[in-house]
Amino acid sequence: MRGQEKNFLEPSEQFLRNPNTSWTLAGVLRFLPFGTVLKNPFLLRSAAAMKEVFSRATTVAGLLGAVFVLGTLAPSATKAEQLWVGTAVVDITPDRPVLLDGQRHVRVAREAATPITATALAIEGRQDGQPTEQAVIVSCDIVAIREGILEKVREKVSGQLAELDPSKIFLCATHTHTAPVTAEGKYELPEEPIMRPSEYAEWMTTRIAEAIVQSWNKRAPAKVGWGQGQAVVARNRRAIYADGSARMYGRTDVPEFRGLESMEDHELEVLFFWDQEDRLFATAINVACPAQEVEGLRVIHADFWHPVREALRQKYGAELAVLGLTGAGGDVSPHLMYGKAADERARKLRGLDRLGEIARRIVRGWEEALEVAQLDIQSDVVFRHVVKEVPLPYRKITEAEAAQAAAEAARYRDNPAERWNYLWHQRVVERFEKQQAGIDESLPIEIHVLRIGDVAIATNPFELYTDYGIQMKARSPAVQTFVISLVGSAGYLPTERAVRAGGYGAVPQSTRVGPEGGQILVDQTVEILKSLW
Ligand SMILES: [Zn+2]
Repeated sequence: MRGQEKNFLEPSEQFLRNPNTSWTLAGVLRFLPFGTVLKNPFLLRSAAAMKEVFSRATTVAGLLGAVFVLGTLAPSATKAEQLWVGTAVVDITPDRPVLLDGQRHVRVAREAATPITATALAIEGRQDGQPTEQAVIVSCDIVAIREGILEKVREKVSGQLAELDPSKIFLCATHTHTAPVTAEGKYELPEEPIMRPSEYAEWMTTRIAEAIVQSWNKRAPAKVGWGQGQAVVARNRRAIYADGSARMYGRTDVPEFRGLESMEDHELEVLFFWDQEDRLFATAINVACPAQEVEGLRVIHADFWHPVREALRQKYGAELAVLGLTGAGGDVSPHLMYGKAADERARKLRGLDRLGEIARRIVRGWEEALEVAQLDIQSDVVFRHVVKEVPLPYRKITEAEAAQAAAEAARYRDNPAERWNYLWHQRVVERFEKQQAGIDESLPIEIHVLRIGDVAIATNPFELYTDYGIQMKARSPAVQTFVISLVGSAGYLPTERAVRAGGYGAVPQSTRVGPEGGQILVDQTVEILKSLW
């Protein structure tokens, strides 16, 4: 990116004219540097391995006007820290066929259309040369961070890095539906030899641990900035009808259609990190929409984050680490609910497919954020990171809901191909039994709340409905608030209005925690945020 700084303020026309910005699937393959992909896509991993670890570290930056040596590691409430930052990117594309996660039916991927990667961002705060705070954020091209994955990664890291507190590591999922299954037992295994979910999980967690260790070891003084752009990516996917019911991806061209259930969050919250030579080496982009535009494919694919990363690296440096952070968007997706003809026409004229169009918007919004951020680059900022376990009440299941789930579960029980559907209903039956027996009345979840200068970051393990994210942003004391969902795998967290209207993503089968728990999550998050300001 050297010499490209001048281009920061240029409008996006250059981007539009670039022939590489036409991302058909074939186009993506064409402009990747691995031409063998089409013939043997699983060679992709070794090819990618050559350019894999864009480990990035920087050298000395501006100093703190440090005055006192406090003789303690506890940071003062408002005193600024110097940030030491490092990044690493690892390829997590499997080299054998795998099952794909995120749909009801069994899908086997035998090839990769794009690499899938994990990007680690390690941040250490120092006051007067003494370490005061830590965080490692890892963005993973995977549908969710399934149970046991974070624990495995923390264990693998703590064996290698004694000075890093494993609880300060968290993983977030981009929610691509074209990445491997990482938990056993959800789908029937096919006859053909594949990399089993547990095998893949073992390998993937080793790779992610490597990324964390590399990013941590390469940390060096850095400067930070933040900005906001706008990008229309998310579309509310719940159509509401005259009878008050909701349907995911329901038709909107019928007389009964009354509207979409909720607003979308089109703010792009962006963090930027520069080294001492003012080279931009890392960016974290918070988009309140899961990456599931190409969700039905039977190939490995990183969805819209792939063209976003490629475009940013092409313009701003091949080693730029790009963290895709999925915001609160449990009720949205990139799929259009209406207006498809206008979208199609514009894309045709621009020579873009849907992924290309989404990437164009994110990159344009990102550049708007950069324009502002680079006018206010900070060398030392307040840096705090609170990790808290919050017990949230399970959603109450009615007798009628339990009976209906039991009947559905019975329909699928003896058909191994319907394992996903069986478990989906059976979970409700089991939860109802526990509820009646008074066992496990709350679900303990781990949340992370961070302050980096004027920016707040709040995580949750859910597919959190947009309204909750908006509430957190509206009540936050920060100038900008990043809400990161899918830091875990705790299911949808619907609003009260969604529960009333029903439909996928709002019924007990889709959810473990309901609106009561959602409100507690928001209140607790806001309380912690306020304690950091
Ligand atoms: Zn999904």
